[in-house]
Amino acid sequence: MPLTDKDENNRVPYQLPMPQNVLPEIVVPNAIPEDERLWVKQAENVFFRPLCLNVSQGYWMNLLKVTKAGVLSRHRHPNTVHGFVLKGRWHYLEHDWEATEGSYVFEPPGETHTLVVPDDCEEMITYFQVNGIMYYVDPYGKHIGYEDVFTKIDMCRKHFDDVGLGENYVEQFIR
Ligand code: FE
Repeated sequence: MPLTDKDENNRVPYQLPMPQNVLPEIVVPNAIPEDERLWVKQAENVFFRPLCLNVSQGYWMNLLKVTKAGVLSRHRHPNTVHGFVLKGRWHYLEHDWEATEGSYVFEPPGETHTLVVPDDCEEMITYFQVNGIMYYVDPYGKHIGYEDVFTKIDMCRKHFDDVGLGENYVEQFIR
């Protein structure tokens, strides 16, 4: 039922306690950070900015930043991915569409694809929610590696330690 200004309770906060086991919320100011140390290096010219690393449901939310035109690792998704392009553009070798700034992308389970940042794009940033794993493969589907929320957390720990923020800096993003 919609609230109206005639409702005297309109601006009264919820008066009861949250459920006993509810997790703390996460608020990340400057999600696209000014501090370059917050970008975790994942490969040459490829970085991710963790926002929520969800170990209880096995997914992660992050910004992916690619700072040079080129090809990213080919991978299969056993679970859904959602993406929103914040800057630049990219496409998959396997599809004829392009994800441009402002685009939303749904990647269905079972999809295998190879991300390419075009030659005339210097930098792309995309917000991705990745469920389960990234299953890296050769062109014929042979498994060559994987990433999941736990390998992401390990990378963050090492990176934040290396840049002087301390490995525990990652804890604020874990739920
Ligand atoms: Fe993908």
